[in-house]
Amino acid sequence: MTTGAENLLPHQAAAIERAFGVRPTQHYGLAEGAANISQCERGSLHVDEDFAAVEFIPTGKDGLHRIVGTNLTNTATPLLRYDTQDLATLRDGSSCGCGRPCLVVERVDGRLEDYVVLRSGARIGRMDHIFKDMVRIQEAQIHQAAPGEMTIRVVRGAGYGDDDERALHRETLKRLGDDMDVRIEYVHSLPRSRTGKLRFVLSEIQGASIEELPTAHL
Ligand SMILES: [Zn+2]
Repeated sequence: MTTGAENLLPHQAAAIERAFGVRPTQHYGLAEGAANISQCERGSLHVDEDFAAVEFIPTGKDGLHRIVGTNLTNTATPLLRYDTQDLATLRDGSSCGCGRPCLVVERVDGRLEDYVVLRSGARIGRMDHIFKDMVRIQEAQIHQAAPGEMTIRVVRGAGYGDDDERALHRETLKRLGDDMDVRIEYVHSLPRSRTGKLRFVLSEIQGASIEELPTAHL
């Protein structure tokens, strides 16, 4: 069983294994075929270098690299150095005990726009950790219109109550400190993109590219 389109977090992998009795493995790819990364039996994320020529361009921030790829198999629509807008962290010393020679990625850090911006201008990523134990939330999305303020849109699941709302505020404060005003808004559904994906962070902040703002990880 392989998963794609979103990062597979350890607690999610454990829940899938409990339910189905198989350990899911993570796969990263895109319809454009410009990059492919597959998890091996040792848990390492290997770049499938026979599938596409993938480059990792340093952003200069926190060891993050842009994933840029050139497809080798699509002769009808060749893409040269296609910027996927996804970010990855490379592993120090790229070998893996499984013996595969391909480059190892420590993790895929999500889309460039999956970052929120504090009042100070610092960017915070990996916000999905806030929802780790929030089992009574059906779906959630972060909307940010300006640095230092954000709204979490929540579709409540069965049994969601005041305790859950307090826990959500607590987890957010833990990750962002008090440099961000956080509102929670309850909605019946969340908008999907044209391809049916749910964007985790919807940001209206202009020019908030990773090169232009300092990055901080709490
Ligand atoms: Zn391996």
